[in-house]
Amino acid sequence: MKINHNFDNLVPNYLFADIAKRTNAYIAANPDKKVIKLGIGDVTLPLAPVVVDALKKGADELGVKETFKGYPDYEGYAFLREAISGYYASFGVTVDKDEILVNDGAKSDTANIGDIFGTENTVVVTDPVYPVYVDSNIMAGREIVIAPSTAENGFCAMPDESVKADIIYLCSPNNPTGAAYSREQLKAWVDYANKNDAIILYDAAYEAFITDDCPRSIFAIEGARTCAIEFCSLSKTAGFTGTRCGYTVIPRELERDGHNIYKLWYRREATKFNGVSYPVQCAAAAVFSEEGQRQIRENLEYYKENARIIASALDELGIYYTGGKNSPYIWLKCPNGMGSWEFFDYLLENAQVVGTPGEGFGECGRGYFRLTSFGDRDNTIEAVERIRKLLGRS
Ligand code: PLP
Repeated sequence: MKINHNFDNLVPNYLFADIAKRTNAYIAANPDKKVIKLGIGDVTLPLAPVVVDALKKGADELGVKETFKGYPDYEGYAFLREAISGYYASFGVTVDKDEILVNDGAKSDTANIGDIFGTENTVVVTDPVYPVYVDSNIMAGREIVIAPSTAENGFCAMPDESVKADIIYLCSPNNPTGAAYSREQLKAWVDYANKNDAIILYDAAYEAFITDDCPRSIFAIEGARTCAIEFCSLSKTAGFTGTRCGYTVIPRELERDGHNIYKLWYRREATKFNGVSYPVQCAAAAVFSEEGQRQIRENLEYYKENARIIASALDELGIYYTGGKNSPYIWLKCPNGMGSWEFFDYLLENAQVVGTPGEGFGECGRGYFRLTSFGDRDNTIEAVERIRKLLGRS
């Protein structure tokens, strides 16, 4: 018996464990100091009332013989797919309800989509990167090529014509850098993918944070329907990190290697996935109602204001950063040439603020640091005040 030895190639990721260890040691040694965590990637505001009502109503229906439901459709109930299709239309993108597959969040599909692609494909990931893309492809034994995101390209890595990519992961607005691709930049990736017969796996988990004219979907770009799959999630948009619901969009005309990609993925889902529970799909549909959109926007505005507060302090301090505008993440250059971990310790010891060292997201993250806007307003203001005092002096 043999295990999948590709797992031997995974690089241990102790990032969040190390952060917790250092933070807890500091708290134990300094019990009188108030530590503020601006490193969390999880939401903190509760579900919108209209979403909770729909969740309860869906659960009630399951308790009545006439409205009871068993296994859901693999691709999700039509009422939810119609609501998602209408949501796309609200920002000018045409996606048919029959191109949408509902899932339990973007992590599963961005990691599992590889099931339908050969292991001999070359995968391009931008660096710094959401680790799921890398680890899931290492598990499958695929070759991974890095497209570096740096200050020079504004942390928006662009295609390298000398690389023959087959699978390309893009995430915009990006975790961890908060940078969002412009229309022109995405068009360059779409043209590159079509030319190389590649497929772009486009993670739009943070699209709802976009405030300017950056595209909210890869399908806003001409040519994307023949080269892209989009993953979206209600986790950050509507606080579903614990409730679990997302969706994947595969254009019906997307084909590779003589196969229809939607059909392959549908077959995979029918084999390995039994759908999302009815009450959760009811709750998700409520997010896309007029009232749902109004209510979730209030929460998004709260996080965005936190991001603005952090970003404006960095502006004042003259510190280079990306994100903060179209994203809950602020990605900053550690001041005075400090390394990511060096800055982590400096900030913890001198301002009692915790963030995330950039090098935990890849080589190009060295010397960078991620702050998030998912915290409480008062704590965010206090943390920013402390950072301003600390770095304003140095
Ligand atoms: N994609 C990105 C870029 C993320 O940052 C996250 C979560 O942090 C996910 C996907 C996963 O989200 P979900 O909760 O929908 O699985």
